[in-house]
Amino acid sequence: MTDRRPLVAGNWKMNGLSAAAAELDALAKALADRPAPACDVMIAPPFTLLAPFVAAASGTPIAIGGQDCSHLEPGAHTGDIAAVMLRDIGATSVIVGHSERRQDHHETDDLVRLKAEAAHEAGLVAIVCIGETEPERDRDQTLNVVTTQLAGSVPDAATADNTIIAYEPVWAIGTGRTPTAADVATVHGTIREVLVERFGEDIGNGLRILYGGSVKPANAGELMAVANVDGALVGGASLKAADFDGIIDAYR
Ligand code: PEP
Repeated sequence: MTDRRPLVAGNWKMNGLSAAAAELDALAKALADRPAPACDVMIAPPFTLLAPFVAAASGTPIAIGGQDCSHLEPGAHTGDIAAVMLRDIGATSVIVGHSERRQDHHETDDLVRLKAEAAHEAGLVAIVCIGETEPERDRDQTLNVVTTQLAGSVPDAATADNTIIAYEPVWAIGTGRTPTAADVATVHGTIREVLVERFGEDIGNGLRILYGGSVKPANAGELMAVANVDGALVGGASLKAADFDGIIDAYR
């Protein structure tokens, strides 16, 4: 049995002005004042808040991550952020291939894999997102879609230390809808099998698989108890410290 320390990660997306740092402080206070959870905690603020959040999280158990990175080296690429820049500012991980990037910016599996490789090169943990759309789910394509995305988006050099998979059904993101625990178990079980087949027992069983999509304090306990669910990637409910801490409660 491989020990996988769960991760509860918050993706703030395009939310948060400077005053939002108060939520980070409130989360740090909750983590200090309440029983220590048996999980890692990460917040991925927008790029504009990375520097203040890294400073505010210093000395707390909260790690700070990026929401995306370029696959390219630093250079003439207006508006892009290189993985090494994230590392330089104090981020320790970066989300790649979020469905909003895949949809809004037409990111392909190939590009997502290159971004994950750039993250590894820079010393960052790549959190690689995969998940089916609602029409794909309705056509019973969920397992095919996640298997194809895993094959195309996860680098061959993935290890349990440099890569985390996040299964996020697109239709569950920000909708208040979630798959049943049985459906989550089926998808995460398939992801685990695919990882073990490709990377072998040690790495395949060591890689963490997060669930994301409308995780809230009220459903976190049930979702986090599902086999092969090694934590959560949380959008909306990560913006308020009390809600996020309520999700972290699944590991207290
Ligand atoms: C996300 O976008 O990664 C996400 C899971 O969002 P939400 O929790 O708001 O559904």
